[in-house]
Amino acid sequence: MNKPVILVVEDDAPVRNLMSTTLKTHDYKYLTAPTGRDAIMMASSHNPDVVFLDLGLPDMDGIEIIRQIRSWSNMPIIVISARSEDDDKITALDAGADDYLTKPFSVEELLARLRVTIRRLSMMNTDSNNDSSIYTNGSLKIDYPVGCAFLNGEELKLTPIEFKLLCLLAKNTGKVLTHTYITQNIWGRSWDNDIASLRVFMVTLRKKLEPTAGSPEFIQTHVGIGYRMLKIE
Ligand code: CA
Repeated sequence: MNKPVILVVEDDAPVRNLMSTTLKTHDYKYLTAPTGRDAIMMASSHNPDVVFLDLGLPDMDGIEIIRQIRSWSNMPIIVISARSEDDDKITALDAGADDYLTKPFSVEELLARLRVTIRRLSMMNTDSNNDSSIYTNGSLKIDYPVGCAFLNGEELKLTPIEFKLLCLLAKNTGKVLTHTYITQNIWGRSWDNDIASLRVFMVTLRKKLEPTAGSPEFIQTHVGIGYRMLKIE
């Protein structure tokens, strides 16, 4: 992959400058947009590899920007919002954002989120060239057509729901999936009961999948938001 181009959408000049300086220092190419209108224009004309999108812009709702970009592109979008705005993050993820960054954030967090997203991008590019019926991620392997998952070559004894859950997370590796998104995909609806069941299935799935209890390697929890399958290096 060539040097990735990052579009920074942020109306707050100090935050925007911090982000662009960080990207520059770490050898990324970047573009900046202070408004929603600029963001959509630059996203369509420059086709960046990743977008950082502040949800609180003066001229447009950030969610609307995600919807517009999603109507023509799958470019990864990482939304930026304040800590108190969990509902906005969930709406943004359900509208098609890939990840989120909570203000105030550190330079390290910004770079970490970017690395996760770029790994996901390179995986998406490899997947489209290769046979995608077999998934491998570190010591985990999933054979989708056969319906089996293996850890270090040993078959995992998963229930049908655990397997479905694992496949859904695997197919979206690197992306944060909300509770609503997951329950809708697994049960076709999202009631409070389903979200409670999801937690239970996640515990049992992790017991089988994660070698070290308490320090998950594959599935990351986003408290109050959802889960993400991490790409193992
Ligand atoms: Ca703002």
